[in-house]
Amino acid sequence: MKRVAVHFAAALAVAGVVASTGAFAQDFPGSKPVQAVVPFAAGGPTDKVSRELVAIMSKHLGTTIVIENLGGAGGTIGAKKVVQAKNDGYTILIHHIGMSTAPALYRNLGFDPLKDFEMVGEIADVPMVMVGNKNLPPATFKELLPYVKANASKLSLANAGIGSASHLCGLLFQSAIQTELTTVPYKGTAPALTDVLGGQVNLMCDQTTNIAGQLKAGALKPYAAMQQRRVEAFKDIPTAAEQGLPGVEVKIWHAMYAPKGTPKPVIDKLSAALQKSVTDPTFRAKMAELGAEAVPAQRATPDSLRVFLGSEIDKWTPVIKKAGVYAD
Ligand code: ASP
Repeated sequence: MKRVAVHFAAALAVAGVVASTGAFAQDFPGSKPVQAVVPFAAGGPTDKVSRELVAIMSKHLGTTIVIENLGGAGGTIGAKKVVQAKNDGYTILIHHIGMSTAPALYRNLGFDPLKDFEMVGEIADVPMVMVGNKNLPPATFKELLPYVKANASKLSLANAGIGSASHLCGLLFQSAIQTELTTVPYKGTAPALTDVLGGQVNLMCDQTTNIAGQLKAGALKPYAAMQQRRVEAFKDIPTAAEQGLPGVEVKIWHAMYAPKGTPKPVIDKLSAALQKSVTDPTFRAKMAELGAEAVPAQRATPDSLRVFLGSEIDKWTPVIKKAGVYAD
């Protein structure tokens, strides 16, 4: 009798939880704000994409999305915070390509990008450009290559920490020219850019979303577009391949995640709002202005992101293993 009662009580409790989760998911988001963790410094490329996005997505979701910048360790500190957050939809993560390089770079990462998150969808693709302080002697990338080789011990290369986009791009660059430079890690390329402009660091491979203003103002030396084709918004910058260094290509992508176990109706609402945002003409125009491209709606979905993230992990893991770099 006692056992039956206990089972009955347990069943009631489970039913209650299910009912309240269902009801809760239906009510999501209500008027409660959603916190979006951006795992890099404020004012940087990931932050810029994120701020433009949440300004529009708040409208489509029906509640305010507030950004928390939590930089360091190439974005893994912020990502870890979201893994441990309550899976109710009120904490989400906006991260970039670093989500796919971290498993190879960090032997003790402490989370699995594919297993410990619910996917919401992709946001935008962002090109990278190798830039230098204005007073660096080489005028072009072609001239920069022998200059870097001859002055390697004196030159420094900024990045946003191991596993960041700037780190990955710098890594491929150094490995392609078989020359090691002193690398200087920051919490994001926003603070790194200040030092490149000030001449404390010489070079950086950065996303156009961070440097569009400085490129237009001629405040940096724009050495090369680190992708196959020239960047639409900066057609006058030749690619690395055009200037004698083929194969150094890094296209950055941003995406949105939620902690594992976030209810599906909540993910569906987040993804629907994301799809409306990436197709919103204001967001698309903002991205284009920064040299980036908002993804089409079909890429702003959980299924598409899951497949894409898996393919990016498969693409970058052997490259990083071959380069023999670890963050820990
Ligand atoms: N995404 C980083 C930032 O926002 C930059 C990087 O990954 O290189 O600063």
